[in-house]
Amino acid sequence: MLQRPATNCFLSLWEEFGSASLKSHWTSRPRRCDLIGSQERHSTRELRFLVCVAAEWWIELSWCSASPRPSLSARKEVILAHGVQESLETDGIRRRWSRRSCVWTVAAEGVPQGTGRTEAASGMLLRAAERQRWMPGWARLAHVTAEAELKVPYADELPSRQAQLAALRDTEEFDVLVVGGGATGAGCALDAVTRNLKTALVERSDFSSGTSSRSTKLIHGGVRYLQKAIMQLDHEQYLMVKEALHERANLLEIAPHLSAPLPIMLPVYKWWQLPYYWAGIKMYDLVAGIHCLKSSYVLSKSKALELFPMLKKDKLVGAIVYYDGQHNDARMNLAIALSAARYGAAVANYTEVVRLLKTKDQQSGKEKVCGARCRDVITGQEFDVKAKCVINATGPFTDSLRKMDEQKVANICQPSAGVHIVIPGYYSPDNMGLLDPATSDGRVIFFLPWENMTIAGTTDTPTSVTAHPIPGEDDINFILTEVRNYLSPDVEVRRGDVLAAWSGIRPLVTDPNSKDTQSICRNHVVSMSDSGLVTIAGGKWTTYRSMAEETLDTAVKGLGLTAEPCRTVGLMLEGGKGWTPTLYIRLVQDYGLEKEVAQHLASTYGGKAFDVAKMAQVTGQRWPIVGKRLVSEFPYIEAEVLYAIKEYACTAIDVIARRTRLGFLNVQAADEALPRIVQIMGKELNWSQEKKTEELEAAKKFLYHEMGYRSRSEQLTKTSEINLDYQEVVRYKKRFHRFDKETKGFITTVDVQRVLESINIHIDENALHEILNEVDLNKNGQVEIDEFLQLMSAVKKGQVSDSRLAILMKTAEETLDMRGPVTVDRSGGGV
Ligand SMILES: Cc1cc2nc3c(=O)[nH]c(=O)nc-3n(C[C@H](O)[C@H](O)[C@H](O)COP(=O)(O)OP(=O)(O)OC[C@H]3O[C@@H](n4cnc5c(N)ncnc54)[C@H](O)[C@@H]3O)c2cc1C
Repeated sequence: MLQRPATNCFLSLWEEFGSASLKSHWTSRPRRCDLIGSQERHSTRELRFLVCVAAEWWIELSWCSASPRPSLSARKEVILAHGVQESLETDGIRRRWSRRSCVWTVAAEGVPQGTGRTEAASGMLLRAAERQRWMPGWARLAHVTAEAELKVPYADELPSRQAQLAALRDTEEFDVLVVGGGATGAGCALDAVTRNLKTALVERSDFSSGTSSRSTKLIHGGVRYLQKAIMQLDHEQYLMVKEALHERANLLEIAPHLSAPLPIMLPVYKWWQLPYYWAGIKMYDLVAGIHCLKSSYVLSKSKALELFPMLKKDKLVGAIVYYDGQHNDARMNLAIALSAARYGAAVANYTEVVRLLKTKDQQSGKEKVCGARCRDVITGQEFDVKAKCVINATGPFTDSLRKMDEQKVANICQPSAGVHIVIPGYYSPDNMGLLDPATSDGRVIFFLPWENMTIAGTTDTPTSVTAHPIPGEDDINFILTEVRNYLSPDVEVRRGDVLAAWSGIRPLVTDPNSKDTQSICRNHVVSMSDSGLVTIAGGKWTTYRSMAEETLDTAVKGLGLTAEPCRTVGLMLEGGKGWTPTLYIRLVQDYGLEKEVAQHLASTYGGKAFDVAKMAQVTGQRWPIVGKRLVSEFPYIEAEVLYAIKEYACTAIDVIARRTRLGFLNVQAADEALPRIVQIMGKELNWSQEKKTEELEAAKKFLYHEMGYRSRSEQLTKTSEINLDYQEVVRYKKRFHRFDKETKGFITTVDVQRVLESINIHIDENALHEILNEVDLNKNGQVEIDEFLQLMSAVKKGQVSDSRLAILMKTAEETLDMRGPVTVDRSGGGV
């Protein structure tokens, strides 16, 4: 066991790298294991951490200064020989290290044998080269090689869902059947199909309907995890951050239309925190190494306020800005699933696995998983899908699949819910996020611009597993309070400004192989049951690709599948090809779309935006020529509903939540767009009137419960005690009676219309009905004086904002007051 001081230790590591034959390094693995392996004694943990981090940095440094760079063939050799690592795999932690040993060994084979330091330097170079597979530029190279070797059976048009279901039913046997169409499952399907395995993917709801559409939308290594790694000298956590930072670079490269680097500001309110946070954030850049998106920097107080004017000025000392990636999570998930389909995987949403199929292995006599019984959720029909390997990628539902395999198996998932809220875009600058590193209860809250809105979150509360998590009022208020702490008192953060809220379930897992069942794994776990069910659970969005690679490596090795090496590094996702930052200009010029709509199409569909634009209908106006919006304030157009059907959207919820993100951005706007969406889908999919009504109701229910509409509406009903002072009550009663001319005690659409028309405001009757309906708490078709005062009280408390009735009535009153009494000569009458 290791009992040397750190410097000696580091030197010995160096010697090891520089030893005359790196082949002997391979055989000396036990010594290496003593140094850094998983069976190490706890007392050497800190030392191990220091040594390993120092060695890694040294490697990065030597690579940076080395010239010339390793050749492509040398890099290829490393990549090809990567498969050797499997022979070393024993368990999770060791695997990382084995992988390292393997890479060093491969490095030795890839360069002419020399002695001492020269060879060590070459080894380091190659080691670095292996890592550079994740670096954007190199990833592009890998992508060129990978794509040239791959067949794309559906380059033009994707098969319909019916054709996909037929393929699932009729294929005699797949190599791999992936269960779960979230980021992890879609990633596994893409990995499998590009290894030339016959692949199927089934998802019981829509792709990304689970946690993968409900994330913070960050592509990150996690500054908080790095802080923990350093504070607790936890090398495993450090490696997790490092791996995620590599994956961050890859994801930004392969889906440039759906992702972008985002600067995030960390405001500092105490002088001593400035060097502390600065060092932490610089460390984050350093760990990212050449994958660092952009260098972090320190800002003075005045510069911080210039960039983030809404920030609380009081006691602000300065700020630190660092970079992470941000994406449209549901669209990214879909892009991965669609890419898998393009490469020939049979992918079907609304297809649920109801039980696993098993057969007796002739050699061992043991039962083996050989497929699954699936149910088409839309028609209810059941059928069998046969496969050599079944992968369980069901996120928080991982245990339900594991129990289908083995009834008595212990649970590994410890679900935890995280809520986010969406508030108007004016709360944050267009291109600067904010990180609150220590909330009142020790959590981290992000406050980020996203799709022209601001999203804030998240919370972390133990929960039970459900497919329909609901955001709670307490969580919404907690986030609002934290946001208020950071914003200037002039910026009134009102409850009524919450336009949408959602909850997602983190699939935190314990390692089924771990003896310590209490320990929650911060990373992912890949395991294979006795009957051959491969489970991938936990992890993060950012690392979906490397998780998929590891899962397929396990499956290929464990089940003896014949497969090619992983090819997903640098492999462009659906829409990534053909995208350029100026693509939207061509959309405007070629199709006559509004600039905002064109920008939205380019950043959502990438190179496929032209296909959407082609489907857009002529508006009949001078400008824009094509592209009718679904709702006026969002750039979503009607053609996207038709295109969504080509992207396997089956319900109105799929369109408002995941093909467009309207439901996540503004529940009221989504609610308004629903009738038109249902109409378009109904026509295209031949829905009966009954089916259309059903769809409308289901989507409204979804917005009400899962997207925070309910919480929003309850703000009005909960303000039972009216907190208006006497003057206010008199003022609002006067305003009310301007509309209730006959002093009936209530107003109807007719009353409001009459007053509005007298001041030349014309609103269509249906719209007026909707406006009154928002305030009509007892739903009797009229707004009573109590309801009106309740509304004004809620507006005063900030629980309700943008009430159309309140704004209309105020405007009408002011206009009428300005006019004053109509004089006899102007009235055109009298004597
Ligand atoms: C609040 C929150 C914020 C987060 N923020 C980030 C972030 O900013 N960055 C980051 O990297 N990570 C983030 N994460 C983590 C990340 O979102 C998850 O790790 C990831 O989305 C999990 O994906 P998944 O595919 O494993 O699970 P899911 O997306 O839940 O997918 C599992 C799928 O399996 C399907 N399924 C279940 N049972 C069956 C069955 N019997 N048959 C067929 N299908 C089935 C489900 O319908 C579901 O769609 C966040 C997580 C949460 C909760």
